[in-house]
Amino acid sequence: MYTVIDGKALAQNMRIQLKKDVEAFTAAHGAIGLAVVLVGENPASQVYVRNKIKACEETGILSHAFYLPQDTTQTQLEELITSLAEDKNIHGILVQLPLPKGLDSERALKLIPYEKDVDGFCAENIGKLAMGQETLVACTPYGVMKMLESQNIPLSGKRAVVIGRSNIVGKPMSMLLTNADATVTVCHSKTQNLKEICLQADVVVAAIGRAKFVTADMIKEGAVVIDVGMNRDENGKLCGDVDYENVKEKASYITPVPGGVGPMTITMLMYNAYIAATRSVK
Ligand code: NAP
Repeated sequence: MYTVIDGKALAQNMRIQLKKDVEAFTAAHGAIGLAVVLVGENPASQVYVRNKIKACEETGILSHAFYLPQDTTQTQLEELITSLAEDKNIHGILVQLPLPKGLDSERALKLIPYEKDVDGFCAENIGKLAMGQETLVACTPYGVMKMLESQNIPLSGKRAVVIGRSNIVGKPMSMLLTNADATVTVCHSKTQNLKEICLQADVVVAAIGRAKFVTADMIKEGAVVIDVGMNRDENGKLCGDVDYENVKEKASYITPVPGGVGPMTITMLMYNAYIAATRSVK
């Protein structure tokens, strides 16, 4: 019998607690400011930004939205980020990606000080995570860790397989699991014998971007299966990287899509803004 880890419910509970913590911080030190920068009119990015602003409202964080036109120059973007970096009322800065063609995101993101990098993307934060130091952790893998924690799933000494090695999900995920004393294998598109490797895993995290890629024959009986993927199936329906209907029968714990990792990501962003603010007054 498997347990579904309900990311939506967990995210809601976390937001209730976070709202109280944010209120206490605000009473003592003033509002927590999160700057959200959107350049251009990418419809998916507009939805993401709207959801982030809504989450700020829900948790009592003060969002500062900056909507820049499609033809914004690199200099204009960098001037804005530099001013936000210096602004004491801004505790976190996020630049919604992807940026329009012609803008150098790497150069722009480098201007975000690591202590305001609430996405946890910058080299300093990733380096600190690799070294097991205090950092701001990338929101999606951080959310996955909270989901595992919520079920008291033991990780120490367990075999974990992360499928995907992106800088925003796969790599930080593997570091977090390593820091939690799991024995971690990172797989990617060049990995050979993926099925055999997955079959050894007590915990499988799929962050691939391919609909229903992880099938039941790749999963050990009783394994924990975390699905980060967000894809469309052949009928245009939202689905994960895991063939949920078949895999769930073998899993001990599994996350659904939708309602799994997704809702945790924005909650962890709010959490990171709170953490950044508390560190700023230490
Ligand atoms: P990405 O940058 O495209 O990385 C995908 C990874 O999967 C790469 O490392 C790639 O290997 C690997 N891969 C591709 N095909 C493979 C195969 N056949 N076998 C093994 N590995 C394979 O994607 P991402 O940004 O990490 O995102 C992954 C998924 O998570 C996407 O569906 C995305 O939408 C979703 N996502 C969800 C959330 C959320 O909040 N729920 C947040 C972020 C991302 P190579 O490195 O060799 O190319």
